[in-house]
Amino acid sequence: MDSLRELTAADETLDPADWADAEALSHRILDDAITYLKDVRERPVWREMPAEVRSFFKTPLPRSPAPVAEVYDDVARNVMPYPMGNIHPRFWSWYMGASNFTGALGDFLAAIQGSNLGGGNHAAGLLDSQVVNWMKEMMGFPATSSGTLVSGGSMANIIGLTVARNAKAGVDVRERGVAAMPKPLRYYASDQVHSCHRKAMEALGLGNRALRRIPTDAGLRIDIGALKAAIAEDREAGFKPACVIGTAGSVNTGAVDDLQVLAKVAAEEDLWFHVDGCIGALIAIAPENRPLVAGIQQADSIALDPHKWLHAPFEAGCALVRDAAAHRNTFAVTPEYLESTPRGLASGAWLHDYGLQTSRGFRALKIWMALKEHGVEKFGRLIDQNIAQARYLTGLIETEPALELMAPTTINIVSFRHRLDDGSEERLKAFNTEIMLRLQEEGIAALSDTTVHGRHCLRVAIANHRTRREDLDLLVREMLRLGREIKAAAPSM
Ligand SMILES: *Cc1c(COP(=O)(O)O)cnc(C)c1O
Repeated sequence: MDSLRELTAADETLDPADWADAEALSHRILDDAITYLKDVRERPVWREMPAEVRSFFKTPLPRSPAPVAEVYDDVARNVMPYPMGNIHPRFWSWYMGASNFTGALGDFLAAIQGSNLGGGNHAAGLLDSQVVNWMKEMMGFPATSSGTLVSGGSMANIIGLTVARNAKAGVDVRERGVAAMPKPLRYYASDQVHSCHRKAMEALGLGNRALRRIPTDAGLRIDIGALKAAIAEDREAGFKPACVIGTAGSVNTGAVDDLQVLAKVAAEEDLWFHVDGCIGALIAIAPENRPLVAGIQQADSIALDPHKWLHAPFEAGCALVRDAAAHRNTFAVTPEYLESTPRGLASGAWLHDYGLQTSRGFRALKIWMALKEHGVEKFGRLIDQNIAQARYLTGLIETEPALELMAPTTINIVSFRHRLDDGSEERLKAFNTEIMLRLQEEGIAALSDTTVHGRHCLRVAIANHRTRREDLDLLVREMLRLGREIKAAAPSM
């Protein structure tokens, strides 16, 4: 007996040896975190890492213990000062949200509780389903529809496109695979469609060519006549037109396809109607701009991204599917080790039946807490605010002779460039890229760039609850200064 007790006394654990120490360190981390957020405006948006920071990440696998306070010091020194920068008020690169403090607390509490949202009868499971229900309500989707929280928009799109494939395959594609389909499927989207759809088509076994890119009009919206012609042509050639993907907010310019017309075409042509709303679906909650996404509630499936315009800390995406049975039938599998029981822990819903993951994180909590704290109306107003800021910047560009708007501003993305007196496209690209890089390297603002209808441009995407109009004034001033400096140093510009 005694020797048994000795053996159990020696059991190791990952819990702190001294909870009082853990408490003191946690309070210090929390204080530092609050200062970090409070002072974010005073710091550069981004900075290059010195060589010693880069080499810090080459240290070998730690074999023996270190005090956690030292571990934290390493993080404070080498990680926290060199962020991506998207929590900064002047970060407008690519497209991402700016996170939020309450969401960070939610992530912490989710990790403390440590629940696995694969499913089961526990509070986190109910909360996860509640957040999905709130998303349906925001989109105007019926209560009978279903959905799931995933890592982000790319996964949310894969969910929608997979349900579409299985619904339209004409064969039990889960059992027999795509090779057994009587006709090859065709999907349609505008030439502005996000690159994740290509990956989805490849992963689904349909192949990239099965996604037809339809030309866009001057506003970068899908050309409906060209879409109809492509569908007719494919039917004639023996394909099965299966799905049309509407983009609600394109990543290049923020263009919003005419979702009402797409819904109608999809109904007439018997296509699945999927909306990639990673950027713009949430405009449905914005009081002033909501008409821009009218028709989204008619979709068969929607991908949206709470880590963009709801500013959830990464990661959080959401897929909604109108036909709950079609959704579940695409993914549900019940192995013998995951059977439900009439009572107890295994009597709750199996949330992994709605996607590809088995274990799932408690990502709902960070969304839930921030929505409860602020209310959905405030999130809607913040979306309107970003769109108004993009229009304000558009106005600044239009009145500044040295700058040139490159695409119409529909929502919160502004595509523009600095002019050159006698610039070829190539020189304009080099000049504008240099301005963009100096803005980043001087820590002033983070912009990204793209090419729209063959012309290079800089992009400001304002999905940021910390941006103020004065930040946009500063951007224009600094761009003009850098433009002058670069031209002075290289007079050929
Ligand atoms: C961001 C984005 C995606 C991909 O979403 P992730 O959350 O980055 O995976 C897909 N489509 C559009 C239009 C996007 O803007």
